[in-house]
Amino acid sequence: MRTLLYSSQTYDRDSFLAADVPSDVELHFQPARLTLDTVALADQYEVVCAFINDDLGAPVLERLAAGGTRLIALRSAGFNHVDLPAAKRLGLEVVRVPAYSPHAVAEHAVALIMSLNRHLHRDYNRTRDGDFTLHGLTGFDLVGKTVGVVGTGQIGATFARIMAGFGCRLLAYDPCPAEQVEALGARYLPLEQVLAESQIISLHCPLNEHTRHLINRQSLSGMQRGAMLINTGRGALVDTPALIDALKSGQLGYLGLDVYEEEAQLFFEDRSDLPLQDDVLARLLTFPNVVITAHQAFLTREALGAIAQTTLDNIAGWASGSPQNLV
Ligand code: NAD
Repeated sequence: MRTLLYSSQTYDRDSFLAADVPSDVELHFQPARLTLDTVALADQYEVVCAFINDDLGAPVLERLAAGGTRLIALRSAGFNHVDLPAAKRLGLEVVRVPAYSPHAVAEHAVALIMSLNRHLHRDYNRTRDGDFTLHGLTGFDLVGKTVGVVGTGQIGATFARIMAGFGCRLLAYDPCPAEQVEALGARYLPLEQVLAESQIISLHCPLNEHTRHLINRQSLSGMQRGAMLINTGRGALVDTPALIDALKSGQLGYLGLDVYEEEAQLFFEDRSDLPLQDDVLARLLTFPNVVITAHQAFLTREALGAIAQTTLDNIAGWASGSPQNLV
C-alpha cells in the first residue's frame, strides 16, 4: 500500500523507519501539511497518514477520495479535525491511535505546572544574563493544593496519579467517572464546583460540540482568583481572548498552554524570521505568567515509537480486512 505521511518531521521518519514496517506498506514522507493546496500530492496513494493540524474537512476528503485514497490513518488520538460524516459518505475509513503514551502528555502538563509555579522560564533567562536575584520568583508548595482534573480518561487519570504523588487534593469532572481516579481519593463534582474550588485546573477532555470554549468568560469568573489553568487538550477548549482579559485583571494567575485554537497555521514550523501575524498569540506571549509550548506534549521517544507501530498495525489490519481502531 502506497502510504503518504503528511506533516512528517524528521522524528516521524526516524520512528516509522525504526518500527516493524509490513512488507506491503510503502512509506513516503511529506513535510507539507495536508490542505486543499497540497492534497494533489496524495493522488494514487491508497493510504494517507495525517497528523493533528492537517485539514481533513469535506473539500480535502472529496479530493482525496477522487485521487484514489481509501484509508485515513491518523497519527493522533484526537479526531476532531476530521469531517466524519463526509468521510463516511465518501467511503473513506478512518483509523487512529487511541493510546500511545498517556504519560507523555500528563508529564508535560506537570512540567508546565512546575515551570509556572517556580518561574523556571524566567529564572533560566535571568541567570543566563548574569542576574542572580530572586525577586518575582516566589512559588508555592504543591502539597495540599487542590487540583481540578477535567476529563479523567487515560491522560487525565495519569495526570491525577502524578498530582496525588505531590500530595495534592484531587477534584474531577467527567461525565463518566473512573474508579481508578476515585481510588486516588479524587472527588467527582459538577464542573462549576471543580473550577470554583481548585487552585490548579488541567484540561484533558476531547474537543467536541460540548467542550468547545468550555473555559470562557463565565467559567473564568467562577474560578478562584489567581488560579492556574493548564491546557494540553485542544486549543478550542478555551476562549483565548477571554483568557487574555482574565490574565490582565489578575483573575487568572498562571496559564500553561500546549495547544492553541489557531495553531494549525503556526505550530511545527520555524517562523522565527517572520513577524508574528497572530495578535492574540502575540499578546499571550507578553505575559510573564504564561508558558506556551507548541503542541509538544506527545513528543517522547516512547510515544513516537508507539504512534508509529500502532499506525502501521492499523494500516496492515485494514488491508487484511480486519480494521482496528476505527473512528
Ligand atoms: P480519553 O478518551 O482516554 O479520555 C477523555 C476523557 O474525557 C473521557 O474520560 C471522557 O469521558 C471525558 N470527557 C468527555 N466529554 C467530557 C466533558 N464534556 N467534560 C469532561 N470530560 C469529558 O482521551 P485521552 O487519551 O485521555 O486524551 C484526552 C485528550 O488529550 C484528547 O482528546 C486530545 O485532544 C488531547 N491530547 C493532546 C495531546 C498533546 O500532545 N497535547 C496528545 C494526545 C491527546
